[in-house]
Amino acid sequence: MFSKILIANRGEIALRVLRACRELGIKTVAVHSTADEDAMHVRLADEAVCIGPPAARESYLNVAAILSAATITGAEAIHPGYGFLSENADFAETVEAHGLTFIGPTAEHIRMMGDKITAKTTMEMLGVPLVPGSDGELKSLDEARTVAEQVGYPVLIKATAGGGGRGMKVARDASEIEEAWSVARTEARTAFGNDAVYLEKYLDKPRHIELQILGDNYGNVVHFGERDCSLQRRHQKLLEEAGSPAITAEQRDTIGKTVTDALSKMGYRNAGTLEFLYQDGQFCFIEMNTRLQVEHPVTEMVCDVDLVREQIRIAAGEKLGYTQSDVTFSGHAIECRINAEDPDTFAPCPGTVAVYHAPGGLGVRIDSALYTGYKVPPYYDSMIAKVIVHAPTRAEAIARMHRALDEFVVEGIKTVIPLHRRILADPEFQKGDYTIHWLEQFTARPH
Ligand code: ADP
Repeated sequence: MFSKILIANRGEIALRVLRACRELGIKTVAVHSTADEDAMHVRLADEAVCIGPPAARESYLNVAAILSAATITGAEAIHPGYGFLSENADFAETVEAHGLTFIGPTAEHIRMMGDKITAKTTMEMLGVPLVPGSDGELKSLDEARTVAEQVGYPVLIKATAGGGGRGMKVARDASEIEEAWSVARTEARTAFGNDAVYLEKYLDKPRHIELQILGDNYGNVVHFGERDCSLQRRHQKLLEEAGSPAITAEQRDTIGKTVTDALSKMGYRNAGTLEFLYQDGQFCFIEMNTRLQVEHPVTEMVCDVDLVREQIRIAAGEKLGYTQSDVTFSGHAIECRINAEDPDTFAPCPGTVAVYHAPGGLGVRIDSALYTGYKVPPYYDSMIAKVIVHAPTRAEAIARMHRALDEFVVEGIKTVIPLHRRILADPEFQKGDYTIHWLEQFTARPH
């Protein structure tokens, strides 16, 4: 096992990793920008190194500074968290080239899944079902037209290097294909420096359901069930649940087996998530994330597993030590992402937290780096806390989340807590009756 780990991240996720390290008896090194000198992860770590000015490009994305910090402090491994360098194959490679361990998959697998066409063709070969669409990259507008006719309109043109919902355009019928083709390519070139695009059938009422997996270095892969992340705004998830209100235990077992078989054949190691669109009883793979996800706590609550601890154990060369039949599911978990944003306009709202009081009680977990007097900096992601609840049933989890949000006091900045309250009170949400389009329609309704 490692004796010291550097955490290449900030905020709640840096704290999350730090907590797992503490419990394993591992010393921690925090890195921080000059804007984060007073951050909680810096205060709680055994050592802290300033790696640059506020802009992420010059600090949290500064590979040379992060590697120097690891070398100076004698850290043996680096946990990248999520975001920042977590899915950067070059970073993973550089870390290993310096004789340190990257707590994550191999650089080769990160690279493979970072290119969505390669990801799709690989998964298809391994027997994972896909959204119908083009066979790889579209070479011309003519090809786009032909494939669109074959799969049927509406269709979606997507960037192979895509992320964060950028470089994605819908064509509802043949008259829109030319514009979708050129807009998606231009966006992809501007955002990712790569204008390769592919085509998928546009599903009109899917849910976003993803499977959490872990693999060790010895070919053992298990899944920890699904998360329903359909509640999204501009492709950003806002509320997640485990399990999905839409699927049965048998469906979970079936897709879980397909996924674990595929990843075991790939020799995939560490944590990963396969994202699917689910409609009319069918799972269609869209992409794989080769890292820990923001919403991992809902899985931890229903499976009683510490996914970060598992990531560290795997990276240290330990075997999983359990099989699929040892993974059990209990109750229901919901996570509300609390963003420092206006709950109606979604404008970011950084500033000083005048009063902070976190909820507690049975089945309530708060992952947050906030405290009274903390100044939320304007430079980074607006998510400031995650409220996670666990209860025997979904209805009880909803009631518990209501209760927890009522107790939550964050003064001095605006947050999306009022929006979460409205969602939880909505009869459609309570029935579990929603698709990926539900939240956008919900937020547009007068209230
Ligand atoms: P990104 O990496 O940019 O987030 P994804 O492929 O994960 O791109 O897609 C993001 C979101 O876009 C999905 O969660 C879903 O809401 C929507 N989406 C993607 N593909 C389709 C599709 N074929 N049909 C309908 N919606 C889609």
